[in-house]
Amino acid sequence: MGEIIAHVLEGTALAEGGVDGVVYEPGSEAGSADADAASAAVTGVAVVFLATQALLEQATALGVNLVISHEGLFYCHREDGATWLPDDPVVRRKRELLRRTGITVVRCHDRPHRCQPDTITAGLVEALGWAPQVVTHEPAAAVVAIEPMTLAQVARHVKAKLGIPYVRIAGNPELVCRRIGIAAGYRGGAGVAVPLIQAHGLDLVIAGEGPEWETPEYVRDAARQGRPLAYLALGHAESEEPGMRALAAQLRERFPGVPVHVLRDEPLFSVL
Ligand SMILES: [Zn+2]
Repeated sequence: MGEIIAHVLEGTALAEGGVDGVVYEPGSEAGSADADAASAAVTGVAVVFLATQALLEQATALGVNLVISHEGLFYCHREDGATWLPDDPVVRRKRELLRRTGITVVRCHDRPHRCQPDTITAGLVEALGWAPQVVTHEPAAAVVAIEPMTLAQVARHVKAKLGIPYVRIAGNPELVCRRIGIAAGYRGGAGVAVPLIQAHGLDLVIAGEGPEWETPEYVRDAARQGRPLAYLALGHAESEEPGMRALAAQLRERFPGVPVHVLRDEPLFSVL
């Protein structure tokens, strides 16, 4: 197991202020960053956006004992559940499941984001079928130049390519989009999106999520002032799952004897 964990975490370390590392090891009550999971034999790997209760149950049924999770187990970017909400019933039940099943969980967040290009962004662009249209890969986003499509057509395209039931848009559905910024995960805020729009003359930013009063409100004011722009929110998981799928493909290539599953939970939100 140590070899796979080392591969997954290559080039990143908690010492650098990141969040990657072994975040849950069986037998370790608190979960630990310097855990010694290395000697266990791997029965199977599950790669997930976030190790939800349902996906941990699925991983157990598949005989998996190593889960690679992009986001944290316990509802906070930097906390591991031992210090954050130690007495919470939901956290306790999740930890009980891990203890019972003997699954090791590794957080793999910073490493793929620090690759050049960012593995998660590149995976999303690839899944959208726009890899040949990439103009540039910036650290926090990619820019693509596509054949003109209306915002409504882009929304249909994105839903079909990612297999997701809905997206949210701000802007006119008839707006013709040619240059699009693609920002996976929590990069939909104005700090990333607005300079990107200006630097690359974008019509549209597609992001995982971000504060609603930042970029979407910027887009609304810009349109009112006569410069139509648009914003499309995929959802955080929806924007990062393709990149984790790409990471799983890398693992299969590197460790051909190990079963590597990609598990995806149901969409988090439903629209009523
Ligand atoms: Zn991410």
